[in-house]
Amino acid sequence: MSGTRDLDRRYVFHPFSMAQTHEQGGAQMMARSAEGCWITDDDGRRYLDAMAGLWCVNVGYGRERIADALADQARQLSYFHGFSSMATEPAAILAQRVIDKAPDGFSKVFFGASGSDANDTQAKLVWYYNNVRGKPEKKKIIARDRGYHGVSVMTGGLTGLPGLHAGFDLPLPMIRHVSAPHNIWTRHAGEDDAAFSARLAQELEDLILAEGPETVGAFIAEPVMGAGGVIVPPEGYFPAIRQVLDRYDVLLIADEVICGFGRLGHWFGSPATGMTPDLISVAKGITSGYAPLSGVLVGDKVWQVISGAGAAKYGVFGHGYTYTAHPVMAAAALANLDIVEEEGLVARAAEMGAYLNTALARAFDDLPIVAETRGKGLMAAVEFARPTAEGWQRFDAAQTVGPRIVRAALEDGVIVRALPNGDAVSFSPPFTVTPEEIDLAVSTVRKAAGAVC
Ligand code: PLP
Repeated sequence: MSGTRDLDRRYVFHPFSMAQTHEQGGAQMMARSAEGCWITDDDGRRYLDAMAGLWCVNVGYGRERIADALADQARQLSYFHGFSSMATEPAAILAQRVIDKAPDGFSKVFFGASGSDANDTQAKLVWYYNNVRGKPEKKKIIARDRGYHGVSVMTGGLTGLPGLHAGFDLPLPMIRHVSAPHNIWTRHAGEDDAAFSARLAQELEDLILAEGPETVGAFIAEPVMGAGGVIVPPEGYFPAIRQVLDRYDVLLIADEVICGFGRLGHWFGSPATGMTPDLISVAKGITSGYAPLSGVLVGDKVWQVISGAGAAKYGVFGHGYTYTAHPVMAAAALANLDIVEEEGLVARAAEMGAYLNTALARAFDDLPIVAETRGKGLMAAVEFARPTAEGWQRFDAAQTVGPRIVRAALEDGVIVRALPNGDAVSFSPPFTVTPEEIDLAVSTVRKAAGAVC
């Protein structure tokens, strides 16, 4: 084991890893450098990163322009904050550019450093908004099974993946969950999109009524669910959900941490999926992962209340992070957005996304344990399950195939991810991915699936 691998094994506490296994076996891979869609490890071996890191390196690795923007800004003004109406130029310019791309009706951005802190801010905004309106009971937040919204105390609970609750006493008592629109596991036999959407909207309405509408503040959802399985909503789903929320004065939060900034082939994912949110969270793609930065976009309805006379009783808005509106992170985002715009990468994500989804459908249609290939833009997944006379069944934990397929693909030099709630394997490459790289990723995973099944 090389020196740095040994240091990692002995001293680093890894996220989403088995502590004991890591201490014994060490890192699966030690990344050293990267260019385009390719990562090189400490042994000089190259891997095709078909996940863009964690759904974030949208413009690909090794962009000099972003590296220069980071360095230039760090030299000019390495840090200053936004508390007490202090400001920096890069953050102001970035806020305007974000609002420019956002759906209509958004005029303010609150910056943070991660998707989790953005969604924490959302929860606090929902509570603050309802306190200002004199509705202090209206505090529960409803999320969906399989949704991924972060890992903080609040957002770990909003996340609807049991593995993220285990051992942490989550979710907190003000959080509820409803079903996700999953074609294999929640759609009933023979149900078309309209009926499926109507049933899930009814489930949400039933829950709001059971809890008491005066206690429910918001509903949070990803336009296309990422880590929970790349779940694309059926036609009419979000409009049906919105009608229910409007009936009970419940806010809609779009968690666009993955979808925002082009991954679905549109600048924002909400309009592309029929979602009309009151609040939007962004992170990852805003800097393509070159720097930690997130944003909460506040819609006019909420802004009018929290900036209105009714909020004066609370004094200053008592929320913000040391790194809110960090000028170096903002400079990275500006350079990243320049690249996305100048190279037409949003349109390219749509084009390569169509190519990827067609390639997956073709490559996996002969494998009996493939329940579905699905995706939208450059988010895609293959769902593996056991075919039975009664329909699809999940594999038992001991027979789960996703992690084995991912390991085999990694051995063959392709990085994909097994999603935490079952047997889906996901793809989310940089927008610069070529058809040849997509073919390589798909054929490698197909070969791995054939070998382990
Ligand atoms: N929301 C979504 C949709 C995500 O996919 C993620 C992370 O993958 C988060 C929130 C949390 O972001 P972070 O890991 O930056 O806290």
